[in-house]
Amino acid sequence: MSANRLFIISNKPIVIAGPCSAESPEQLLHVAEAVAADSRVSMMRLGVWKPRTHPGGFEGMGATALSWVDALRREYPQMLFCCEVARPEHVSACLQHSIDAVWIGARTSVNPFLMGELAESLRGSGLGVMVKNPITPDVELWVGAIERLLNAGVTDLAAIHRGFDTYNNSGYRNNPLWSIPIELKRRMPDLPIFSDPSHIGGSRELVAPLSQMALDLHFDGLMIECHPSPDDALTDKQQQIRTADLTPLLDSLKVRQHNASAPEELIRLRQELDSIDTQLLELLSRRMRISSAIGTVKRSHNMPLFQPQRWQQVLDNQIAQGKKMGLDEAFVKGLSETIHGESLRQQET
Ligand code: PEP
Ligand code: MN
Repeated sequence: MSANRLFIISNKPIVIAGPCSAESPEQLLHVAEAVAADSRVSMMRLGVWKPRTHPGGFEGMGATALSWVDALRREYPQMLFCCEVARPEHVSACLQHSIDAVWIGARTSVNPFLMGELAESLRGSGLGVMVKNPITPDVELWVGAIERLLNAGVTDLAAIHRGFDTYNNSGYRNNPLWSIPIELKRRMPDLPIFSDPSHIGGSRELVAPLSQMALDLHFDGLMIECHPSPDDALTDKQQQIRTADLTPLLDSLKVRQHNASAPEELIRLRQELDSIDTQLLELLSRRMRISSAIGTVKRSHNMPLFQPQRWQQVLDNQIAQGKKMGLDEAFVKGLSETIHGESLRQQET
């Protein structure tokens, strides 16, 4: 990915900002002025074709909005512009107008057929491409979507984390499930990965804390939705920040040093963590050997392996003990479920 021109800059984080949807030439001009005035923002986003859950709503201005972008390009020749594409026809339209990069939305990246068609239409196009995570929490689908673009020779490539649709979104519009973008970064360390705090949080108040979280987790950039007057926006009212609040928001973020060398204290604390992790694994291994022995006893007495009442007791007990030790209930529950699941598997064997 050495030829990545658009998304690898030394001055991190890369910030992309703009409205959820392009609504009028005046709205775009207002946002472009703010974006041009803040040197930290390197690209303006605008939705042109909008994927809506229900039919009959505002589905974007389509190619009309792209001609408004042409007018902005004349006004701001240095500015870069990006919009969402979901079909090869959208890519062709972008190529006829002043679009520098496109992103592939979460409802599109989930579909390998669409990804294949889009990758072909982007082959040799010269457009930058950002791939939002698929709506389902599956890192393989995300990686697969990116691989299709790599196979089509797309070099200006980045990923965008916008959260996942899960059974319980834990207070967010889309559950961040941070371990998934972290796994993507581990698999593809050279691929820039941006965070979309607007679509994760779904509310204006969450944009700043989620942006900080992303910077603390080594993300390379942010895509933030802003609108001159969010309460009047045609899409995603609650999550767009006021354009006037963009610069103060960026001022409030602490940009971490990516290449700082580790201080003594950090090295010592990490050694302590590593030793605790080893002890945890030793204990888990002992626990699984006992589970296996329990499985043998249950089988010899013709008892079912899973005992719902006993499991309820174990879970209640763990949560209560965890609380006394200052551990989060949802964390202890998830951990107990994972250990219990593996324990049942061990008992089967
Ligand atoms: C958007 O960026 O406006 C959008 C529709 O994104 P997503 O695909 O993340 O829902
Ligand atoms: Mn949106």
